[in-house]
Amino acid sequence: MDRGEITLDSLKSTDDEDRVINAEIIHGLLAGTYGNDLHPHGIRIRYARIAGSLNNVGEPHPSFEFNSRTFPVGIKFEHCWLDHPMLAHDARVPWLHLDNCVIPYFHADRVRVDGSLYLRGLKAGGGTDLGAVRLLGAHIGRNLELDRAVLHNKQGPSLHAEGIQVDRALRFRAASLESTCDTGAVQLVNAHVRGDFWLDGTHIHNEKGPALNAEGLEVGGSLLLCSGFVATARSKELATVHLMCVRVGSRLDFGEGRDATGHLWDTPRGEERELLPKKAAVIKNDEENEYKNHLTVDLGCASTDDLRLPAETVCTHKRPRWHIRKKCSNNKIIVVGLKYAMLSRESAHRHWSHWLRDHADRFEAQPYQHLAKTLRDNGHTTEARRLLIRLENARRKHGKAHWWSSWSSWPWHLAKRAFIGHGYRPGRALIGLLVVLATATFVMWQAQSAGSIQKPGLLHL
Ligand SMILES: [Zn+2]
Repeated sequence: MDRGEITLDSLKSTDDEDRVINAEIIHGLLAGTYGNDLHPHGIRIRYARIAGSLNNVGEPHPSFEFNSRTFPVGIKFEHCWLDHPMLAHDARVPWLHLDNCVIPYFHADRVRVDGSLYLRGLKAGGGTDLGAVRLLGAHIGRNLELDRAVLHNKQGPSLHAEGIQVDRALRFRAASLESTCDTGAVQLVNAHVRGDFWLDGTHIHNEKGPALNAEGLEVGGSLLLCSGFVATARSKELATVHLMCVRVGSRLDFGEGRDATGHLWDTPRGEERELLPKKAAVIKNDEENEYKNHLTVDLGCASTDDLRLPAETVCTHKRPRWHIRKKCSNNKIIVVGLKYAMLSRESAHRHWSHWLRDHADRFEAQPYQHLAKTLRDNGHTTEARRLLIRLENARRKHGKAHWWSSWSSWPWHLAKRAFIGHGYRPGRALIGLLVVLATATFVMWQAQSAGSIQKPGLLHL
């Protein structure tokens, strides 16, 4: 069979001896059964069906098992059909590639990969509640790449990599992930990525919980959810994109992305734009919580240098401002404790007063105060003052004072708002004084003209 005619579907059913490799041979190669003179560049298997299933002592087993094994060389599977799942818990590997392969599932908790782990174009759809790809506590010495991976799991998460450490970049671009899991389709809780983490163009859907659950994630570089990133979920408790307490060293970006983001795996030049369109992130949650709200993004207590959250990612409403209050969606974001240092052109900070009023999960003063401080630090002092006045209005609206106390203090609130802008516009007081002075002068002048003012008589003794 010519290599150009070989498809993964044809490999699935092939009995061609040239294309079928028994798992026992791979086990034998790695165990030194056929000698120890393996090529230092490792083992490379392409366009093959990996049949049979063995455990790590060579006994029949329902999976292709390398648990606790130290690989003498790296191994690369490319365009292969693996009949059985692969297990590599506690294994140590120089590098491992499963590019464009089909496998029921790949589980490798605590695996130590000295180089890169490539799962580019991997198709895994095994029905297991432990995940289609599971890498709990794994340590990857260089890159972890899942570009264009298709991980669909109807019984659990698509990717479960809680506590993973990646010493360079984590690339997860133009991938498709679907799952039914109440703790998240992609779970990266307490993960640590020293370089950039790319999710550009990736589509994540969860029928039963959040799409991305990355609470406590640390990213040394940028966290990029750009270029057509789409996350949809049915999640009552957690937001669709749950990034609570994440720490991002550089940029946290939900925007359109940049023109040049590096070559995308197995994609001809010129076709990358279709998979990585210049579109801001779309994040939806079809499930209501107990307050009839749809939680979409949770950035509570998160921190980053540069936050780019486009207007359309939070609120897709396009109508004029005076219609917003009635027509806006129930999408809610959590931004309490969120800290960022700068406001770039793409930060859409002008929309924040609307978001904090209509899209914040609950009223807190901190998001207003932090935005006002950042605005001041970036030279937008007028906007900062305006925002702090809105904070005082919101504070009164959401205050829990007794109704009588609330109503009785209303005139005082209005007066402070009108005459001194709650203390942030003291110049208004001067204008008020001038108005009073001008009014008094006018009244006096009118009275004098009408002869209503009588001079006091002299008293002669
Ligand atoms: Zn809105």
